[in-house]
Amino acid sequence: MSETPPFWFVVPAAGTGRRFGTDLPKQYATVAGKTVIEHTLERLLALQPRGLVVAVAPGDTLWRSLELSRHPLVHTVEGGAERADSVRRALAALTDEARDGDWVLVHDVARPCVTRADIRKLIQATTGGDGGLLAAPVSDTLKQVGADHQVDKTLDRSALWAAMTPQMFPFALLREALDKARADGWTPTDEAAAVEALGRAVRVVQGRRDNIKITLREDLAIAETILRWQGDHGTVEEG
Ligand code: C5P
Repeated sequence: MSETPPFWFVVPAAGTGRRFGTDLPKQYATVAGKTVIEHTLERLLALQPRGLVVAVAPGDTLWRSLELSRHPLVHTVEGGAERADSVRRALAALTDEARDGDWVLVHDVARPCVTRADIRKLIQATTGGDGGLLAAPVSDTLKQVGADHQVDKTLDRSALWAAMTPQMFPFALLREALDKARADGWTPTDEAAAVEALGRAVRVVQGRRDNIKITLREDLAIAETILRWQGDHGTVEEG
């Protein structure tokens, strides 16, 4: 592979996990022998970024109890009310260190099954452009649903992709996009939406479908199975 450009990871981990339904935030649940956040960060750090910023919720006391919070490449910031606010705060923490053209890869803490090979593929496909993200074509038929669970219409899935993370943009462009969304009074649910709104070309790079986001409690069972399967099949070491 050609030389990797300088890049940073930003890991929003300040969600309250309302849909997860336990007092313990989902990133501290244990799967396949480790917490979700440890799986995620270990995979990212193995790619040797310039640094990695984790945004944790105010009052999060568990993060500091983990050895990884003291890793020399790991910086911690307090997250904000929405995911986009947490990412903006993490970017602000990089102002002195990151250059405008450095790449920032934002990755959900709740996606511990991402592979190094997919992240390398994203970096290779995106470098030189405005930005990109891992995504997968949807395989389910999608219904737009209105009041009383009534189907309004069936969407044409042929052009629909499910967005995953990492999502990768130049540092200055991502800051500009998130600041503009805030100034315009809307909250993007991912970084790509903010950059798309600037009219910039954002590419999808097809990623593995097992890069799931742990959202509901039952997703832990799926993540456990994927992590063990990847371990047994040498998937983690690939790429
Ligand atoms: O809630 P959801 O799973 O969509 O959150 C996606 C990611 O954004 C998670 O990693 C979560 O911790 C993070 N987040 C955040 N700050 C918020 C809300 C969500 O860092 N205020």
